[in-house]
Amino acid sequence: MKRRTLINYAAVGAASATVTACTNVSGPAVQGGALPTVRWNMATSWPISLDTIFGGAKTICDRLKEMTGGRFTITPFPAGELVPPLQVFDAVQGGNVEVGHTASYYYVGKNPALGFATSMPFGFTAQQQNAWLYQGGGLDAIQKIYADFGVINFPAGNTGTQMGGWFKREIKTVADLKGLKMRIPGIGGEVMNRLGVNVQVLPGGEIYLALERGAIDAAEWIGPYDDEKLGLHKATQFYYYPGWWEPGPTLDVLVNRAQWERLPKEYQEAFKTATYEANATMLAQYEARNGEALKRLVAGGTKLTAYSKEILQTAQKTAFELYEEKAAQNPSFKAIYEPWKAFREQIYQWDKLNELSFNNFATS
Ligand code: CA
Repeated sequence: MKRRTLINYAAVGAASATVTACTNVSGPAVQGGALPTVRWNMATSWPISLDTIFGGAKTICDRLKEMTGGRFTITPFPAGELVPPLQVFDAVQGGNVEVGHTASYYYVGKNPALGFATSMPFGFTAQQQNAWLYQGGGLDAIQKIYADFGVINFPAGNTGTQMGGWFKREIKTVADLKGLKMRIPGIGGEVMNRLGVNVQVLPGGEIYLALERGAIDAAEWIGPYDDEKLGLHKATQFYYYPGWWEPGPTLDVLVNRAQWERLPKEYQEAFKTATYEANATMLAQYEARNGEALKRLVAGGTKLTAYSKEILQTAQKTAFELYEEKAAQNPSFKAIYEPWKAFREQIYQWDKLNELSFNNFATS
């Protein structure tokens, strides 16, 4: 990071004690076996109040410090403190910050195939997404896209299957969606747009006020635990399920490639290990906490409502039409989409036979 940028950060008052500490690798990577002191800053897209998703960033930083005996430390900053929440990618790409924790689908405007890194409507659950990323060629494919921008990404958190959003009135048919102003990012937003929704992309920390003031009619964030913390149940009543656009979204950590390549191999390996830990821990937190939060919401008057079969079927058809169009227009989308689709067919068949048949029996 450049000195000038450091001064700018300090000037905006962002935790100046840590920001003004030295950053980057000091000197050559390794000399005589001694590992260098490295101080990085991490921008995130998350409010600090969300201990789950901001926790993903924190897990990486905490574990890295422990694994390197405090020699490689990263300070995580809440959304907006270093850069605006939806500009984390740009900040990492430009080298204004070494690393960021965010959702890749905020940046589908740069390359629509980045949607696969997070979640595609009617795509993968968390378990399937991890299988695709780590063992199905997914991560290699996504890293190739990021390489074009001078960035390297690693999966670093998953929310599990999300809820289908908060609405001020009931939505029974596709026709009811027309003209609604809804906060929903990524490819899910593009599908909703085709169903007639006026799509808005707002960072998590701005959703409640927009709903409460009537700037939007509906919004999705994650699920009961986080949505309750954001107060979305205070601004709306109808809580839909399932979150068909995000069956198991991954959060990514993005690293400036030039900075990454300057790290000693030992730090790269520790970093990667910390991202695996964040990926597992965040999912466990959401899975463990959502049920209890859902009970509280329902007790407080939230009305749980399932999407109608008509809406789900139309949305699924629309999603795959959109994918086929994008694949025809964009070679980089096509290169990921076709093997993704084949992987999906195979893993769906396996899960339907085994895990889903078990779940259906055991929970009924
Ligand atoms: Ca969401």
